Amino acid sequence: MDSFIQIPKDSDFTMFNLPYGAYGKGDVAAICTRVGDTIIDLHECQVNNVFDNIDLPRDIFNSRYLNDFMALGKDISKAVRQRLQRGLSLGGDMDNATIKNTDIFHSSVDVTMLLPIQIGDYTDFYSSREHAYNVGVMFRDPANALLPNWLHLPVGYHGRASSIVVSGTPIHRPNGQTMPDGGDKPVFGPTKQLDFELEVAFVIGKESKMGQAIATSEAEDYIFGAMLFNDWSARDIQKWEYVPLGPFLAKNFASTLSPWIVTMDALEPFRHVGPIQEPEVLDYLKFKGIKNYDINLTVDIITKNGVKKNVSHSNFKYMYWNICQQLAHHTVNGCNLRVGDLLASGTISGPTSDAYGSMLEIAWKGSKPVLMPDGTTRTFILDGDTVSMHGWCEKNGRRIGFGECDGTIIG
Ligand code: CA
Repeated sequence: MDSFIQIPKDSDFTMFNLPYGAYGKGDVAAICTRVGDTIIDLHECQVNNVFDNIDLPRDIFNSRYLNDFMALGKDISKAVRQRLQRGLSLGGDMDNATIKNTDIFHSSVDVTMLLPIQIGDYTDFYSSREHAYNVGVMFRDPANALLPNWLHLPVGYHGRASSIVVSGTPIHRPNGQTMPDGGDKPVFGPTKQLDFELEVAFVIGKESKMGQAIATSEAEDYIFGAMLFNDWSARDIQKWEYVPLGPFLAKNFASTLSPWIVTMDALEPFRHVGPIQEPEVLDYLKFKGIKNYDINLTVDIITKNGVKKNVSHSNFKYMYWNICQQLAHHTVNGCNLRVGDLLASGTISGPTSDAYGSMLEIAWKGSKPVLMPDGTTRTFILDGDTVSMHGWCEKNGRRIGFGECDGTIIG
């Protein structure tokens, strides 16, 4: 599918993608999509009658948040995306001088991408078997690495939404309480074990009612799209604080989201069979069909001098618990979902050591330092380092991607 807009080779933003985002430029902030390196302002599209055949409220895109648009339902968001796919194609009806003379099109280098959703509640799962196993081996017992509940339910916890930021936002190294190895009293100071977690997050686009359990067969109706997610973690703080209630200050200081919501329609051709689940799960967690997705995921560390090292190449297809099971489990007790809620997968580790999704695993609790091209080593993330995550799907000449999920650590 070609566009009249130039699309560089290996661009995340082909005509098969058309993700939703929000951009700012001067005093303007609006909902947008992207083709190649061109930002397309959807408010200006509406003003210029591009969406005249779609039943859209006025000014629905004249916003920096997608929540109201997502709440209109998938029929509307699908219609808008399909309309853009037609209009922006080579020889499509937007390929004319009148439209090109409007304020619809902007170069991606001239805009700032904004966090495109008002996130209500954020939930983080722990759904990669390889990650849970690795952590279990490191901190407990290789023979009993998975806790007894892990193969029976998608373990998760409620996180904090206020500190979720868009890619490019600097991240402060958090202070906190830690217990030194062999020590008998805690100390206070900056974390010495700042880590990333490679995750994919899903955005809820349809609300459910309190008391309503969403079946695995209905779950996809509630999911608007996917984003990359770096769930920054302070391991030393985490180790001391997490007993008995789980993660708190080791997690809630920051998480970084990529700027684009890739729709479930765009992800559709990249469905992938998930791992076999044994033992058999309870009935409410059973599902039909193919519910995993083949999304390549990479993590690079870039030093303040620009030296770059790839430290992970994982894939979303490894997830043990799929998003439909996560949603069914999340609502089985009657917990309601709201538009703009964010559900993150948990760290996505693959079966081999080059596919681990956190420094904790890559450097194996500090015992296997990563050698950087400049001769320095990393067991965790240093001040000045940028952690850069990418995600993309590729099949039969069709490629889509998520854009960057970057964060630089400042002391
Ligand atoms: Ca996490």
